[in-house]
Amino acid sequence: MNATAGLFPFDNSYSRLPEQFYARLAPTPVKAPRLIKINEALARHLGLDPAQLATPEGVEVLAGNRVPANADPLAMAYAGHQFAGFVPQLGDGRAILLGEVIDADGLRRDIHLKGAGPTPFSRRGDGRAALGPVVREYIVSEAMAALGIPTTRALAAVTTGEWVMREEPLPGAVLTRVAASHIRVGTFQFFAARGDSEGLMALTQHVIARHYPAAAQADNPARALLDAVILRQAMLIARWMLVGFIHGVMNTDNMAVSGETIDYGPCAFMDAYHPETVYSAIDRGGRYAFENQPGIAHWNLARFAETLLPLLAPDKDAAIKIAEEALAAFADHFQNAYATGFRQKLGFRQARDGDELIAQDLLERMDAGNADFTLTFRGLAVAAADPAHDAQVARLFAEPAALLDWLPRWRARLAEEGGDGDARSMAMQSVNPAFIPRNHLVAEVIAAAMQNDYAPFERLLAVLARPYADQPDAARYTLPPEEHEVVRQTFCGT
Ligand code: AMP
Ligand code: MG
Repeated sequence: MNATAGLFPFDNSYSRLPEQFYARLAPTPVKAPRLIKINEALARHLGLDPAQLATPEGVEVLAGNRVPANADPLAMAYAGHQFAGFVPQLGDGRAILLGEVIDADGLRRDIHLKGAGPTPFSRRGDGRAALGPVVREYIVSEAMAALGIPTTRALAAVTTGEWVMREEPLPGAVLTRVAASHIRVGTFQFFAARGDSEGLMALTQHVIARHYPAAAQADNPARALLDAVILRQAMLIARWMLVGFIHGVMNTDNMAVSGETIDYGPCAFMDAYHPETVYSAIDRGGRYAFENQPGIAHWNLARFAETLLPLLAPDKDAAIKIAEEALAAFADHFQNAYATGFRQKLGFRQARDGDELIAQDLLERMDAGNADFTLTFRGLAVAAADPAHDAQVARLFAEPAALLDWLPRWRARLAEEGGDGDARSMAMQSVNPAFIPRNHLVAEVIAAAMQNDYAPFERLLAVLARPYADQPDAARYTLPPEEHEVVRQTFCGT
């Protein structure tokens, strides 16, 4: 028996969809694959044997040099709005879906190689990924998962022994990405733009069966799907906003209909809180700035709704009315999720009038005072049990008085609902992380990886796996960058 038989217990559904959904092809082999890392816990959750993945045969599979038994490799077709401009054909230009497995929770998961070589969708790209972006995606997606935020995962990373040409030659790498699916708003747009109503119908049925089975029972399944996707995206973006995450390229092809965070390119977590923050080097107009994310998600969902119009109602005007109704719910869904999450961040168990003003007041002071987003909330969690900690939190602000003036307002609100300070502090620590993948830490790990030193990568991953725990040995990972360490721009790496 072939050594890779049984490596992945594939159960493929996407490859049974009609042929206009993808291009079938195998990954392009690379020169000298070498393992960087297997995500052992995730492997086991997926029903895979991490030791087998780490064998030379396993690494050849992860590099695309060997197609495992029962894989059905393909590049998915999709379209998308990139910075608001519509591109009718994008597709997996540097990624191959090997197949799907069912995880320990009974959920279907895509096993996908990013950086696996050219496909018919590559346009002018080389189909490859550079080591830096692979390491970045590995770290940030796993950090998001540990934070409890819906996201694609990283199962493995390998280097290819080849160079990829960007502004300079860079070492090549392949990331094995795991997702509930890689179906995007842009996948729907691909069929809608072609007027392919059979494709659109088949995709809609596939997505309902796979991600939103309850919608199949609804009077209007397409409407139920639209409602459900809008709700999940609103909740997802609220989670981002509550931890200071900036996606960086919220194009419609980078929005998964499953509600997972997908496509970690020039993404970053904010250090100091400034709502207009943009890191992405390609986002010159600031379209995808931190504070714009809810509005952009709504815009993307409107593009999604447009693709569903023929399925929402036979009459165009009636369909538009349904779509508008569904989209109108986004603001409330987002606001509910965000306000609820913010209350938890501030230690409020009950919802009271005025809570949002207290939160807004704090954010304005953080913005003006250049206060670190993560450390401010983590510090408040400690101060909730121990006011002796107030001064230390206040020192995060350029003018400590800016926080000291706000604290009585917060404490008065806490006193209104009463309760135990220690319990409140614990609850606050469970939603206010101490550890996020700060840009300068990611940059440091990538620099070491380029020198073939993966010890810093391993250490950072271990710390980020427990973001809400106090880890006294890891104090340096909580710190914002020194002035000379600040990373002001991030790159897609494409
Ligand atoms: P992204 O910016 O990663 O969301 O990618 C946008 C589009 O460009 C997708 O169709 C990608 O498959 C494609 N693409 C990105 N990088 C490459 C590359 N190195 N080679 C081929 N296609 C690429
Ligand atoms: Mg993309």
